[in-house]
Amino acid sequence: MSKKVHVKGTLVELDGDEMTRVMWKMVKEKLLLPYVDMEIEYFDLGLPNRDKTYDRVTLEAAEAIKKHWVGVKCATITPNKDRIKEYNLKKEWPSPNGTLRAVLDGTIFRSPILVSNILPTVKAWKKPIHIGRHAYGDVYKNQEIRVEQPGTAELVFSPADGSAPTKRLVHEFKGPGILQGIHNTDDSIRKFAKACFTYALDQKVDLWFSDKDTISKTYDSRFTQIFREESENWKTEFEQAHITYFFTLIDDAVARIMRSEGGILWACKNYDGDVMSDMLGSAYGSLAMMSSVLVSPSGQFEYEAAHGTVQKHYYKHLKGEKTSSNPMALIFAWTGALKKRGELDKTPDVVAFAQQLENAALETVQSGVMTGDLVKVAVPSSNNKVVYTEEFVDAIAANLRRKID
Ligand code: NAP
Ligand code: MG
Repeated sequence: MSKKVHVKGTLVELDGDEMTRVMWKMVKEKLLLPYVDMEIEYFDLGLPNRDKTYDRVTLEAAEAIKKHWVGVKCATITPNKDRIKEYNLKKEWPSPNGTLRAVLDGTIFRSPILVSNILPTVKAWKKPIHIGRHAYGDVYKNQEIRVEQPGTAELVFSPADGSAPTKRLVHEFKGPGILQGIHNTDDSIRKFAKACFTYALDQKVDLWFSDKDTISKTYDSRFTQIFREESENWKTEFEQAHITYFFTLIDDAVARIMRSEGGILWACKNYDGDVMSDMLGSAYGSLAMMSSVLVSPSGQFEYEAAHGTVQKHYYKHLKGEKTSSNPMALIFAWTGALKKRGELDKTPDVVAFAQQLENAALETVQSGVMTGDLVKVAVPSSNNKVVYTEEFVDAIAANLRRKID
């Protein structure tokens, strides 16, 4: 066997929970460690260790990504009441992804993993459509009132310096109804825009941004304006990369996306991104074929799968049953991180290895060897064969070995 490729910089590894933790180990042992020699800073974000460390481990991991620029994360449990009982937790710890997002001030981008034998529901789509969702404010940080009787609803802003408040009449209620207040901040919108321009340039794809500024002439218009300002800052770099920035209204964007061939980063406001990322995920085939990356405005990258810990499969695994859980998005989290590490360290052999691993994984599915979730959406063929997770990873390993040796 040829010499292992050497990763120069440090990779920050965030381990996780349940079935993804099981698959994570398999991927590392069979697809990475035999070929790559890497300096890893390891953080165990599995729920028992988060509980044991009073969740300090999550903050330490986030700080390590800030320091070393590239992280790779396994899926983790976000505790709820059931999990508190199941894991006998000290408290209901917050979502690790929320903590990481807050520390890195990042935006999440999702991209489908495409194979030739799983056709998107939308025939026009040939290349990935990446989604960037603004993960702050709007209806996700709202205040709501159920109006029970006639009355006046006003929007009031009281300046901190004590000057006169600004007031707007929202509605004179003649009877029962509903009322909602939402906000966003220039700082958050600008960081979102910067992360989108960074990611579009990184992926060398056109950037679209959409909102409804014809109706929302102050609120959505502020988003439009900030994106326009940022587009000026990125003009030269975009021109050099032969990519463009394009603004259009959300309804027009939806219509155009259906006719486009893909190869776009679509930057969406919070609610639009929530809805559209699920639509794209399902139209591209399977949640297990969707990768995800958190990008900070200063250019730190944290790669992961878009799916959760696949709890139901894990309970089967605990009973000793074999499962056909799909590790593709976890593999692509590692290859994404290795490619980024190679790019930053200027080590093309690391980028080349990551590409070989991706190809080996894609070719395995394309040869018909696949997990249960994929066979349901793949083009029917007599070659199609459902395998258990371990056999699937072994098939990828065999393909990879052929490429490398
Ligand atoms: P999930 O883990 O994404 O799984 C939902 C269902 O989708 C599974 O039951 C399975 O369907 C299918 N699926 C997802 N990933 C798959 C894969 N790799 N291979 C095959 N099938 C796959 O969501 P969940 O069950 O709602 O959440 C479980 C835990 O994950 C929760 O504790 C949640 O907090 C956590 N979570 C973490 C993250 C993250 O860390 N980024 C994201 C979301 C959720 P079938 O059962 O029909 O086979
Ligand atoms: Mg959603």
